[in-house]
Amino acid sequence: MKKLGILGGGQLGRMLLQAAANYPVVTHVLENDPDCPAAKLCHHFTLGDFRNYDDVLTFGRQVDVITIEIEAINVDALETLEKEGKTVIPSPAVLRTIKNKVTQKAFYEHHAVPTPSFVVTHTLTELQQHADKLPAVHKVGEGGYDGKGVQMLHSVDDFSKGFDAPAVLEQKVAIATEIAVIAAVDQAGKVVLYPAVEMVFDPVLNLLDYQLCPAQVAQTVHWKAEAIVMRLVKAFGSPGLFAVELLVDKQGEVWVNETAPRVHNSGHHSIEAHYSSQYDMLLRILLGYPLGSPEAQSASALVNLIGEPSFSGPARYEGLEEVLKMQGAYVHIYGKAQTKPGRKMGHVTLLGTDRVDLMRKARQVKEGLKVKA
Ligand code: ADP
Repeated sequence: MKKLGILGGGQLGRMLLQAAANYPVVTHVLENDPDCPAAKLCHHFTLGDFRNYDDVLTFGRQVDVITIEIEAINVDALETLEKEGKTVIPSPAVLRTIKNKVTQKAFYEHHAVPTPSFVVTHTLTELQQHADKLPAVHKVGEGGYDGKGVQMLHSVDDFSKGFDAPAVLEQKVAIATEIAVIAAVDQAGKVVLYPAVEMVFDPVLNLLDYQLCPAQVAQTVHWKAEAIVMRLVKAFGSPGLFAVELLVDKQGEVWVNETAPRVHNSGHHSIEAHYSSQYDMLLRILLGYPLGSPEAQSASALVNLIGEPSFSGPARYEGLEEVLKMQGAYVHIYGKAQTKPGRKMGHVTLLGTDRVDLMRKARQVKEGLKVKA
């Protein structure tokens, strides 16, 4: 049986392992926390740092196929492993490009993939020379996630909020909708696309409120998004699963915001709502099996369960029983013992036929189910 190594043991790794349980594969996970969500679901757990060259090299040498569930990994070690003949999916070259927003944006520009126009800044002093570009969005090259590492700059007074490190200063798009498309690319280069999902944001927290699939956008927007994602993954030239976040502006133009070269939050709903989930799909790619069908069996909504503000400690799921009574509600608790404000603790997928019903159910879950300590 093939040995699969996963760098990172968070919830994405955990759900990948749940899908892996259906395949002839032996699973290994590298993570520095023995209580991480994936630790108890893999066959072999290795305690170590996926940012460390030696840890990744030693881990990778004992498996046949290596993948990631987080980008902040040691790419040098993955390059060595690839040279030694290991299958690394996605390719280390693509990981290097995507890992840093500066190189990621430059890649889009080079390959004529529509993305908001930008300049690169290295210091705050340099940033201050770009008053003519405001309003704009400043994004740190490395280390940002879930909105951290992104600053909206409306006026010169906001410059102090920017990053004193390599970053991109991006034109602010007048966003009508945010959507995401997941592409699956097999080892022979065949591509299938999941239907676009639509993000509904909480304007106060600037966090994803819930997500709907299919996205309710004009057919032309669907077509543009598909063409852009197709072009992008062809340019990457690597097998893997790629989640592409896109901004749709008020004129109906579509821009790539960013790409995650891995399974992604925007694809959780595919576990219950699609023929082949993003996790099942990635397993097929890693093991060299035919791709599954990305099509939806049902319309769906996805609600993230986020640690409530001002609660830290052993997690308690208030209102869980009410949600479990709802038809078509699928609860996923990630097995993180401790909750913290804003921490992703689980999600709920809701199946339904019409959008209004899904929005009502999503609200019901948001308001009724709280993660507290
Ligand atoms: P992260 O990697 O932390 O998720 P993103 O690059 O996705 O950060 O940006 C977070 C959010 O900021 C996006 O979901 C979007 O709402 C907003 N945003 C990002 N880039 C732009 C832009 N160029 N114009 C307007 N809003 C943007």
